[in-house]
Amino acid sequence: MMIEQNLYKIKENIFNICASANRNPAEIKLIAVSKNFGVRHIEEAYAAGQIDFGENRPQELEGKSKIIDSNICWHFIGNLQKNKVKYVVKTAEFIHSVNSLELAEEINKRSEKNDKVQKILVEINTSEEESKQGLTKDSEIEKVIYNIGDLKNIKLVGLMTMAPYTEDENKIRKSFVFLRMLKDKFVQNGVELKHLSMGMSSDYKIAIEEGSTMIRIGSAIFGDRDYSKSWREL
Ligand SMILES: *Cc1c(COP(=O)(O)O)cnc(C)c1O
Repeated sequence: MMIEQNLYKIKENIFNICASANRNPAEIKLIAVSKNFGVRHIEEAYAAGQIDFGENRPQELEGKSKIIDSNICWHFIGNLQKNKVKYVVKTAEFIHSVNSLELAEEINKRSEKNDKVQKILVEINTSEEESKQGLTKDSEIEKVIYNIGDLKNIKLVGLMTMAPYTEDENKIRKSFVFLRMLKDKFVQNGVELKHLSMGMSSDYKIAIEEGSTMIRIGSAIFGDRDYSKSWREL
């Protein structure tokens, strides 16, 4: 495992990309996506100074957070069903993948019970790929964003997307530009949105150039995921 070296290399890259894009590297939160990796991998990254970690399965997030006793800041980035909200609200500082008002209402209810204000991002499908999660229709996006303001135990902090799965850089960039412009539009209309969660191992350079404030990096830190094994065996 080269976790510490990989983290170092990525931070160096972020620094260089920011220098040529005229951005401040302090504006970019690096989230280490530890899904399908074991507790020892997370602990190794944590020992190397990594604080923010991302998970995409509710029970895996809960299981890991119970074992690892630390000040990790957990991000939930996966598809979330209403009956699993309880596992996530207990643990996650940020939920990136809110894709309906019903889900937001459920998160609000759970957060109230847990006496917390849950930070969330709304997930937008910017790639025209049906397999991807996230809102697509303007009317749906507006409905969710404008109604979340009424939910007292939720704090909307940004928008999240995944770029299309392609080697065509123009298509990837288009997807990130779309999200940035959508955010700008809402900000102009008085919605407080700080974060753009976009960019993964293969496309974070483009994402940073287009304004990302949260990049979600898995394989470039931890290596290839082995889905034939559970995280408990790794
Ligand atoms: C797995 C995952 C990532 C990280 O992907 P890598 O290509 O391994 O960097 C980022 N975002 C989401 C939503 C993911 O599910």
